[in-house]
Amino acid sequence: MAHTEKPTALIMIFGATGDLANRKLFPSLYNLFKKGKLDKFAVVGVARRALSNEEFQLKVKESVKENGDTETNADIDEFVSKFYYHSHDVTDSSSYLALGKLSEELDSHYGLNGNRIFYLAMAPEFFGTIAEHLKKDKLTDVSGFKRLVIEKPFGHDLESAKVLNKQIRTAFTEDEIYRIDHYLGKEMVQNIEVIRFANAMFEPLWNNRYISNIQVTSSETLGVEERGRYYEKSGALRDMVQNHMLQMVSLLAMEPPIKLTTDEIRSEKVRVFRALRPIKDGEVNEYFVRGQYDKGIMNEKDVPAYRNEEMVDPESNTETYVAGKLMIDNFRWAGVPFYIRTGKRMKAKSTKIVIQFKDIPMDLYYQPEKTVNPNLLVIHIQPEEGITLHLNAKKSGQGTDATPVKLNYANKGIDGLNTPEAYEKLLFDSLRGDATNFTHWDEVALSWSFVDNISEVWENTKEASFPNYASGSMGPDAADKLLEKDGFFWWPITEIDVENC
Ligand code: NAP
Repeated sequence: MAHTEKPTALIMIFGATGDLANRKLFPSLYNLFKKGKLDKFAVVGVARRALSNEEFQLKVKESVKENGDTETNADIDEFVSKFYYHSHDVTDSSSYLALGKLSEELDSHYGLNGNRIFYLAMAPEFFGTIAEHLKKDKLTDVSGFKRLVIEKPFGHDLESAKVLNKQIRTAFTEDEIYRIDHYLGKEMVQNIEVIRFANAMFEPLWNNRYISNIQVTSSETLGVEERGRYYEKSGALRDMVQNHMLQMVSLLAMEPPIKLTTDEIRSEKVRVFRALRPIKDGEVNEYFVRGQYDKGIMNEKDVPAYRNEEMVDPESNTETYVAGKLMIDNFRWAGVPFYIRTGKRMKAKSTKIVIQFKDIPMDLYYQPEKTVNPNLLVIHIQPEEGITLHLNAKKSGQGTDATPVKLNYANKGIDGLNTPEAYEKLLFDSLRGDATNFTHWDEVALSWSFVDNISEVWENTKEASFPNYASGSMGPDAADKLLEKDGFFWWPITEIDVENC
């Protein structure tokens, strides 16, 4: 499909009074508007509470001022004048008719060519109902395009994801469904493909002959905060591994696509998921480690254990940390472990990928206590964005000793600009019809089936060691052992920071 560079559409946001709309969607839309990236548009906000259009516009204005590009808000009044509010309980059939009428009026008033985006920024249990109503009450009968943008989580396991998918497919084709994984909107995640496929020095080495292991870490310093009720049913495996972590692995491991089109890229990613070695019941402990945070001290303040957080069972068996070893059984990756780890209340907030290259065949610089270090390519995803290449060079002065050096590229430093927020990019992609950085159903289904094997075992066996890592640490000891038994160790994320280079 040709991507319209300056899209025109009616954007309907379900859950328009919620946190996501307020913190991410309104500021992202404003940034697009300000950069002149939108042609004609209007927004309808939908939620239950009663608000007038003016009250809603004021909320949008405040959200942009607090969360958006703060340099200048000169055109904010023009921007918010295109926002309308419709108070509506999504479970109530009757109010969809009025929403349909409002949409038609706005469509003709603003000349929106019958193009509609339905953005579901609300709890996933409503996704199916909304999609079915949109179809039944003819909101999807449009002369232009219609697209559904939905937030995670997409189901709770493979079975529930299938049910949800069936419901939304009654109203939208797969091509019209944009499943958000906001990691795919991050600048440096999108950069993985460019680093790999645009550099002659990496692609020839990107295989099991030259790479010894790959480590993907996504650590948070925050605890579960006020999300205890949701998190108790989810845990780190469903909340982070099934989507963000596996998506990053698929980008690292995929074959070069024959073209940079949505279909070609997605089909290469799907092939990685298909090659992912399934974890059998008896093997879960061999490949995966779960953790739950204990109390600890962070920023000189005492913080409680997960089990003492609000809305959390004092005996909770939910994991707040996962480490795993993934094997991709194909020609390129046979024998190369991909280690992943993610957790809450860890020592630092950081998402990083470390590609560790194999040792050179003979270490000429070996002395009992000195040797060359392995070459590493580190991709810094967040909070800092950049690339560091760890090499060995001669130590200055007499002799021929080797010493580690780092070549460093900091994304923000070079461009002198803040890279756009993931949501800004993803919203723009959905408006112009580019689904490359959204997850296809096949990826969702395959990643759930991989994760389901593990979560079934974990749910049915109480982990006696919980809580097993202190808040402010890098996770349980067992996660270190997972690598030690293969002769590796986790590269410490703080030492390989782009800022420390
Ligand atoms: P939230 O703050 O709880 O907002 C929920 C919204 O849904 C509110 O606008 C609420 O407004 C509306 N709502 C609830 N029940 C409704 C009903 N029956 N009919 C119509 N509207 C109803 O949730 P959120 O944090 O924005 O999250 C929304 C979605 O985004 C979830 O799927 C979440 O997993 C996902 N997500 C959120 C974030 C984030 O940063 N917040 C990040 C990633 C993913 P009323 O009470 O006025 O009806």
